[in-house]
Amino acid sequence: MNIGEKDIFHVHTYRCGHAENVSDEEYVKRAIAIGATGIWFTDHAPFPGDPFGNRMKYSELDEYIETLSELKKKYQGKLDIHIGLETEYFPSFDDAGYYKELKARENFDMLLLGEHMAETEPGEYTFSWDKDKLNAEEYIALGNAQIQGINSGYFDAVAHPDRIFRRQKTWSEDMDAMAEQIIACACKMNIPIEINEASKNQNNHFRKEFWDKAGAAQIIHGVDAHTLDELRVL
Ligand SMILES: [Zn+2]
Ligand SMILES: [Zn+2]
Repeated sequence: MNIGEKDIFHVHTYRCGHAENVSDEEYVKRAIAIGATGIWFTDHAPFPGDPFGNRMKYSELDEYIETLSELKKKYQGKLDIHIGLETEYFPSFDDAGYYKELKARENFDMLLLGEHMAETEPGEYTFSWDKDKLNAEEYIALGNAQIQGINSGYFDAVAHPDRIFRRQKTWSEDMDAMAEQIIACACKMNIPIEINEASKNQNNHFRKEFWDKAGAAQIIHGVDAHTLDELRVL
C-alpha cells in the first residue's frame, strides 16, 4: 500500500448512515479542487446478515465497489481513486472466510482495520457490556482483537490504533504495555498505523503517550472524513 504525499486517506460515504448525504463523485470533485493526487475510500464494511449498525448494508457492497470503480475510470489521470473498507476483526467471521472473500473481490484495493468493538466469545460482543466493564476492560478486549487482526494478515493498515484507550482518562503502565504490543505487532507484520485527525477533536481518542512509542512503526495520516468539509490534504 503506497499512500502519496498529497493523497487523502480514510474517507466514508453516505452508505454508512452517519455521513453527509452526498454522492461519492462529490468527494472526488472536492479532492481534486483542494489539490489532492489520490483519495482512499474506506467506508464501514458490512457483514453478511447485517448484524451490526453504523455501516452499509451487505446488499450495498457490490454497488459501492462498482460505483467507485466507474469513478476510478472516469477520473483517471486527474485523481487516483482507491477502493477499500474499514472493518473490525471478528474471529467468527474470519473462521467463516469473510475477510478472505473481501480481499479476493475484483476492483478492491485494501482493508483497513478499525476496531470499534470486539468479539470476545463466539457471538459475544463488547457492545453488550455494561458501562463499568467497558470502562475497566474495553481497551484490553479491543487491543487484543486489534493484535489478532494485525496477525491475521488480511489488513493493509490500522486505523486509529490509540482509540481503544478512549475510556481511560489517565494513562497507566498497563496501557503502556498494550501500546507496546500493538506497535511491535504492526512492525513485525510490516503494516502502517494511522494517526487519525478526527480523533484529535474528541476527548481521549488521540493519545500522545501511544505515539511517543511508535517511532519504529510506519505511520500514515488519515482524515476519517464523514463530510465533504472534512477532506483535507495534510
Ligand atoms: Zn464512521
Ligand atoms: Zn473511519
